[in-house]
Amino acid sequence: MNLEIGIQMEVTAKPLNLTLRHAFATSRSTQHIAENVIVEIRDGDVVGLGEAAPIKYYNQTQASCIRALNKMARRLEKRTPFEMEAILADLRARFPGEPSAIAAVDIALHDLMGKRLGRPLWQIWGLDVSGTPRTTFTIGIDSFEKVVAKVAEAEKYPLLKIKVGVKNDLEILREVRRLAPKKTLRVDANCGWTVKESIEKAKTLEKLGIEFLEQPIPAGNNAALKKIKNAIGIPLMTDESSLVPADIPPLAGCVDGINIKLVKCGGLREGLKMVHIARACGLKIMLGCMIESSVLISAAAQLSPLADYADLDGNVLISDDPFSGVTLDKSAKLILNERAGIGCVHR
Ligand code: MG
Repeated sequence: MNLEIGIQMEVTAKPLNLTLRHAFATSRSTQHIAENVIVEIRDGDVVGLGEAAPIKYYNQTQASCIRALNKMARRLEKRTPFEMEAILADLRARFPGEPSAIAAVDIALHDLMGKRLGRPLWQIWGLDVSGTPRTTFTIGIDSFEKVVAKVAEAEKYPLLKIKVGVKNDLEILREVRRLAPKKTLRVDANCGWTVKESIEKAKTLEKLGIEFLEQPIPAGNNAALKKIKNAIGIPLMTDESSLVPADIPPLAGCVDGINIKLVKCGGLREGLKMVHIARACGLKIMLGCMIESSVLISAAAQLSPLADYADLDGNVLISDDPFSGVTLDKSAKLILNERAGIGCVHR
């Protein structure tokens, strides 16, 4: 165990462009390439790895993220890597618009800590890896024919998450269910429905045996979420309504569970807070992702023994992941390895 801390932390941020196997569409946008950022924090002879996936919907770009990270680098020069609470509180106060960049720093610091201690994060946190959930494989919005083709291609994945928010989405869901009668299906409308539409459409979702409905309406109206929850027969999960820890207490009683994404909340430290707050509020927990390499996915997977559901498929939706880390078994259960930190290495 090498706990000797280097003299000055060095932060480097570089573009990481990831190519999607298929154009990825939600009710909001279509993506062919994910413009992410890879971050390395060097402390003496140890390097921690982190990644940011800037979100255009929240006015973040690869360039704005790298600019923020370069400024953050100067603030980290005066710190040691174990001062995480102080470092991250400072970054949240200074860079409120760049949670994805903060997440990259947070992940790299956690990776560094794990590497210094020679242990994976799940073990440092005392978690039981036998309890990791299975992950869904996401089918983005597409034409009826293409969705059918994608379902066929996703044959090896037993859990599917179907993105909806188009005119014929119920027709598509009926076809997916016909093609995959035994699979667990989840539905994400990415804010694309109205309250009335959500309640109406959920009747069909229930008949089709959909496991839960994620974020049918735009964020910012918990009373409307409560109205939907009380009217439908399947669980209601949030995503866009539960970005950071403070969003959770007002959601108690309005929904059945929340989705946690590291790039939205600012990393593992905030993600862990969200886990505990959600539990105290009686809410289920899903761990989600954007289009991400194995760096971000492996980081989120470290928390997965604490989650009820996982939607950590960003790295399998791309064709050029430069890293390897968490893997899936045949049942799509997340398999955490014994490597130190986030358990991720260059391929
Ligand atoms: Mg979502």
